[in-house]
Amino acid sequence: MSIWHEYVQKEGTVPEWPYAVNYDKVNEIISDVLVVGGGLAGVRAAISAAQAGARVVLADAGHAKRSGSGGAGVDHWHGACTNPCSKVTPEEYTKGCYDSMHGYMGAHVRYIITRESWDSLLECEKWGMRIRDVEDEFKGAEFRDEETKLLFAYDYDNRHILRVWGYNVKPVIYREAQRLGVNIQNRICITSLLTEGGKQGTRVVGATGVNTRTGEFYIFRAKATIIATGGAGRLFQFVPELTASSSMSDMSSAGVGHAIGWKAGAELVLMEKTGPATLSGFGYAPYSMGNAGNTYHGVPVIDANGKEVPWVDAFNHTIETIEGRFRCGPGQKFQLGIGIGISNYLPEYQQNDPVHDLPDRIRKGEFVLPFYIDLTRMSEHERRVLWGMMVGNEGKTRIPIYETLNKAGFDPDKDMLQAPVMTLEGYLSSCFWAARANTPPHYRAGGGAYLVDWDLKTSLEGLYAASGSTAYGGGCHGESHATGRYAGKRAAEFVRTAPDPVADPGQIEAERRRVYSSVHQDKDGIGWKEINQAIARVMQDYCGKYKNERTLNMGLRLLREIRETELACACVSNPHELGRLMECSSLIDFGEVMMCASLARKASNSILDFHRLDYREMDPQEWNKLLPIKQVNSEIKTRELPLDYFLKAPFASTYEENYTVHTGKETSK
Ligand SMILES: Cc1cc2nc3c(=O)[nH]c(=O)nc-3n(C[C@H](O)[C@H](O)[C@H](O)COP(=O)(O)OP(=O)(O)OC[C@H]3O[C@@H](n4cnc5c(N)ncnc54)[C@H](O)[C@@H]3O)c2cc1C
Repeated sequence: MSIWHEYVQKEGTVPEWPYAVNYDKVNEIISDVLVVGGGLAGVRAAISAAQAGARVVLADAGHAKRSGSGGAGVDHWHGACTNPCSKVTPEEYTKGCYDSMHGYMGAHVRYIITRESWDSLLECEKWGMRIRDVEDEFKGAEFRDEETKLLFAYDYDNRHILRVWGYNVKPVIYREAQRLGVNIQNRICITSLLTEGGKQGTRVVGATGVNTRTGEFYIFRAKATIIATGGAGRLFQFVPELTASSSMSDMSSAGVGHAIGWKAGAELVLMEKTGPATLSGFGYAPYSMGNAGNTYHGVPVIDANGKEVPWVDAFNHTIETIEGRFRCGPGQKFQLGIGIGISNYLPEYQQNDPVHDLPDRIRKGEFVLPFYIDLTRMSEHERRVLWGMMVGNEGKTRIPIYETLNKAGFDPDKDMLQAPVMTLEGYLSSCFWAARANTPPHYRAGGGAYLVDWDLKTSLEGLYAASGSTAYGGGCHGESHATGRYAGKRAAEFVRTAPDPVADPGQIEAERRRVYSSVHQDKDGIGWKEINQAIARVMQDYCGKYKNERTLNMGLRLLREIRETELACACVSNPHELGRLMECSSLIDFGEVMMCASLARKASNSILDFHRLDYREMDPQEWNKLLPIKQVNSEIKTRELPLDYFLKAPFASTYEENYTVHTGKETSK
């Protein structure tokens, strides 16, 4: 029987739950390093910890062979500043990000990334991912280096972003983790961290989890734990039937990694930061429609009458040629590229784009909708690298977009691809398919990350963070590899001398009771989907773009009420629903931290897109700082920290010195 519909038609009933369920069974697994989350960052962390000799367990809510945002592939690899052709140094790239974000950026993490992104990629090549044009398909192309056969994207002058054949990246690193003997536990939703003595703020000694197929309980004891769980995509919007087709996010992206650390007493930072939500039900299938951003950078956009939209640089100089769209003009240092976890760009680092006033020009009749992209106007090399190599390898595009359109007869040598017809403001961003303007303004995305040091260690002993969303300062594919790889090494160093992890039986038992309470509810309670939707609505209304002390406190009260009423009497009918309900519990925690952090920042801030109606002055100097937040004995504490804390005592004053000190331990082994 191939599909659900056929099965139900034939059998006249839905299938039985296909796994043996045993909610009473408890499994205990002991390791040196536990990695929570098996996306790119998690698998890479597991690999490097295992390479360093640690016994490693990796627990993933999905199946780590394909799970996470990078599971479906990658076509452009950022931050490879140490590749032999790069003209941008790690310092310059880090400065570009830090200055663009006016200091609201964990630049030490960015520096680590730019030092190691290329090395991380070379390892992927060794393990079976193609990163060079070995077949000379693009010989002579201006985005190719003839000696190394590397291909570059977006900024052909500076060559720090690479085009790669990454459709198989996840299986490749998964296989390497298996080869190194990492104990991979798939379908485990981690629900809490274990701390020494069961107390908040003490050393982390492992975690608990539930198998979302069998319902069995898991106790993981570990000397060090690495959080690599990605973000909280389901916090502000929950449209599961639609997210499948138009989301960049992952259903398991429910902020659990942040929430469990918060409950354990770790410090989080910039949790008040949000930005417009761009996807999840409001956009189009990623990369499906005609557009000129990201993977499709540089492609000619033409209107219904065949008139081409001009391109400009950040200083509004017109760019005359298609080639010029990939080059830097006067005043441009280099193009950082988009999708790297920063929300603001200084002009000298900004990418070239179609004219910035396109909505006005459409309104005035200069261009007639709909738009199309015309690949035939590009050189043969550009056309083939875009529709072929890039769309054929980018996440979520190889099968649904590339194969489907090709099979349907799409021919880039002849055909054009239509752009979505949408609210005119949607054309302000060249990634038309993301359809930013379609999303209501109070639907947000965001939250911050763990405050980490130069070891990517959090404020808790034994707890590390990797990945764009959980470590303060990252945000793209290569960065997840690099931070995972780095955190794995640091954690492995730590466990060499760390005492054995002793978990507190009372803490474990309390968590077990909490996890299974919904299983024993009578079936009058509501389910996880309704609860998720309610949480999203509270977040939209009370922690949306505009907020004040009153709305935030109301939001906190409503979240508490959801926890104490709907969540407390929710019911689940199988282990999958149990996992999803646990995620809802974490979403409530995540939302609460965001609201508490928003209350603590009594000033509006343009870089954080943070608008306090009761503190309207934008960017007052005295609020130019970080406000890390944590719980001590369940009481919320914030403190002040300079934006560049990672270059201040106890750290050294330069990136290079800090990096050398912290990686020196690695080489002196
Ligand atoms: C369609 C698409 C295309 C992209 N293309 C590019 C590109 O070309 N270049 C680029 O630089 N970036 C790209 N990105 C972004 C990049 O893929 C992500 O930044 C990166 O994959 C993030 O990886 P991660 O490991 O940090 O987090 P995630 O991928 O979010 O992984 C988190 C993991 O944690 C697991 N998890 C979550 N909660 C739990 C829990 N409670 N217990 C256990 N496990 C849990 C999840 O199952 C998941 O495996 C793209 C993203 C998408 C969606």
